[in-house]
Amino acid sequence: MSTTPERNANAFDAQARDALGDATLKSALRNATDLFAERRTAAIDAVPDWEALREHARQVKDATVARLDHYIGQFADKAEQAGATVHWARDANEACAIVAKIAEDHGAERLVKSKSMATEEIHLNKALAAHDREPVETDLGEWIIQLAGETPSHIIVPAIHMTRDAIGELFVDKLGIPPSNDPKTLCAHARERLRNHFAKADLGISGVNFGVAETGSILILENEGNVRMTTTMPKVHVAVMGIERVIPRFADLEVFLRLLPRSGTGQHLTTYQSILTGTDSPKQRRCGQGPEELHIVLLDNGRSKIAVDEKMRETLACIRCGACLNACPVYQTIGGHAYGSVYPGPIGAILTPQLAGMHEAKPLPFASTLCGACKDVCPVKIDIPSLLLELRQRAVEGTATESPAKRGFFESLTWRMWSWFMRGPKRFRFASAMARFGQRLPLLHRLLPPMAAWHSTRELPKLAKKSFRDSYRPSQGSKQ
Ligand code: SF4
Repeated sequence: MSTTPERNANAFDAQARDALGDATLKSALRNATDLFAERRTAAIDAVPDWEALREHARQVKDATVARLDHYIGQFADKAEQAGATVHWARDANEACAIVAKIAEDHGAERLVKSKSMATEEIHLNKALAAHDREPVETDLGEWIIQLAGETPSHIIVPAIHMTRDAIGELFVDKLGIPPSNDPKTLCAHARERLRNHFAKADLGISGVNFGVAETGSILILENEGNVRMTTTMPKVHVAVMGIERVIPRFADLEVFLRLLPRSGTGQHLTTYQSILTGTDSPKQRRCGQGPEELHIVLLDNGRSKIAVDEKMRETLACIRCGACLNACPVYQTIGGHAYGSVYPGPIGAILTPQLAGMHEAKPLPFASTLCGACKDVCPVKIDIPSLLLELRQRAVEGTATESPAKRGFFESLTWRMWSWFMRGPKRFRFASAMARFGQRLPLLHRLLPPMAAWHSTRELPKLAKKSFRDSYRPSQGSKQ
């Protein structure tokens, strides 16, 4: 996996600083993430066995990842028996080459694509553009991002960082429509353009939410109807599926269907659920509908390496609901682009260094306050804070000698002072007294670096007037 060309995960600090200065971005993110969090709370309140569901889902995922080779093999066999063609891709280059070859073999010039994080991960659009076959994105958010020449900033809401005014201006510029910021008007223009693309498409590309091993079926969730058009109107459908998306039984879908939409968008169920089983189903034969060919590209790209890493393998339980992004105070403040990876937020901070390699994304495990909000909302109970700590340790161990040099002067000085003051009670008491005194001089820490930069976006918590020790001692004395 490579990171986006414009930004990269190793430049996280600078990118985050840029994002912090963007007031419009902050307000767009805050409005959207607060709304999703409210909807999620309301949706899960209506499910009495929510915790049991989470536990069940996690058990299914753990059991699947423990025998991933077995289940993915079973899925591939069953999918082929049902009429699909299965392709295996070890990495991004192989996956892109497979899709490009399918398009070439079928003389497909006009391609449409529905939202898929796996295809974002492998930068499929760019690879196909090199063959003059760039697909048209058909999810509204992805289409807006494509028109703007940007990359998604959220795994389920790609244009979360854009206001409707910005989208209105983009449409005026790119589509030549009269100015408007009315969502209904903008959607109507998008629908008209996209229908035209669907009608002419030779090949449709989608992702996969779940692949069922016992039947070889794939399930794709969506709200706009574009997935259904992408997967049924063109004669050829190519589905790109990360190998961790497999689940053993059809009955398991019931659990994940209750968890995923509620966690992601606060919906009880997405508007559409497309379950596709090869091309030879009785219904397809009877109606003569659907694509003539279904190709499923099974993407590894680092996943099998994670599956054998005992400490990190729970990363593969992720169902890409996006709830951890919406709950994360870091994501809520800086948005997705600052992470410099197609996977932003808490899940991106653990997934990107594992897929791309730590050398490609060393700052990301540190891009967290470790508050635990991500763990609380995760429908499959991934302990993201513990995984972040493990990755932090690996990041430092891997480059123990270069780590201090990469820190800024003030950061190094701060940590050295902190370490010195923590080495004895007298030093600690002295540091606490100094900090209390310093708080009486607000201008001092508002103007002097590095506190001035820190203060530009936050308030320093107030220290108590007395330390716990000072308060505790007299009360003990009076009891004796
Ligand atoms: S880590 Fe959990 S909360 Fe985050 S996207 Fe994955 S499943 Fe959702």
